[in-house]
Amino acid sequence: MAAAGFDAWGVVEATELSDAKARFEMWLGEGGDYGLDYLRRNVDKRFDARLLLPGARSIIVGAVCYKNEQSLSSDAPYGGRIASYAHSEDYHTSLKEMFRQVAERLGITDRKSMKICVDSVPLAEKSLAVRAGIGWIGRNSLVVNPRFGSFMVFGELILTEECDHYSTPYESDGCVGCGRCLLRCPTGAISPNRTIRTALCISNRTIEQGPSSEEFDTHGWYFGCEECQSCCPHNATSPLHTNPRFRPLYSPTLFDSNFRANLTPERAESLFGTTPLMRKFKKW
Ligand code: SF4
Ligand code: SF4
Repeated sequence: MAAAGFDAWGVVEATELSDAKARFEMWLGEGGDYGLDYLRRNVDKRFDARLLLPGARSIIVGAVCYKNEQSLSSDAPYGGRIASYAHSEDYHTSLKEMFRQVAERLGITDRKSMKICVDSVPLAEKSLAVRAGIGWIGRNSLVVNPRFGSFMVFGELILTEECDHYSTPYESDGCVGCGRCLLRCPTGAISPNRTIRTALCISNRTIEQGPSSEEFDTHGWYFGCEECQSCCPHNATSPLHTNPRFRPLYSPTLFDSNFRANLTPERAESLFGTTPLMRKFKKW
């Protein structure tokens, strides 16, 4: 996994995540998804990888740190704040290639015996990451790793092979005595039970619904929001990314206040070409 570029990983037995499923259904029942209809589809598959790959027995969960020089700069007064995971090549592409390398090294060539998941299929990646021993669910609802903090992206490689040893789930809680993210969130989107009120979350609003003047003028975010991460003490001490795939391809500090007005499709393509921002930009 390290040779492929992953920073943290673990292996989980492919069984139903019944506790996590019950919590998710309760959150849906409270309307936490706020119109993200795709979250209501395939709930059974999301919590049982055997329904995604018949005969699945193991899941390798991999995480990569994407923290860069801008990740802690939520207060920077430049023309468009953009979540730092979107400064580099689209992680969906990167992680899929990395997992293909892992599968090759494991000698797995039969497509029917493996499935790579990077957001493209419903899978409860945060619950799996905890089970894989990668970290705990922080109060900001993100997985926090004691070394890499929460500036991480995740993917999974589901296998029909049994593993001779599975990871120990992460059981400590590194949030005890803190609560900075709750205080910092500009919209009060973080619930006390470590879930997010999606309707209020700037990240959801600007990524799923497209950049809006309201979000930008009030909060200064053009794409995403990292305020509940940039204030986290675990992120203050975590290292910057080392995987070259997560090297920033542009710097939002270069954008002035006219940046949005001047953003023609051609300019967007040249600025954001292979980043997650461009993938979204095409849909808006
Ligand atoms: S991403 Fe921003 S709006 Fe959403 S919970 Fe975190 S701080 Fe609040
Ligand atoms: S800011 Fe504090 S409470 Fe929030 S995730 Fe980080 S450690 Fe946990």
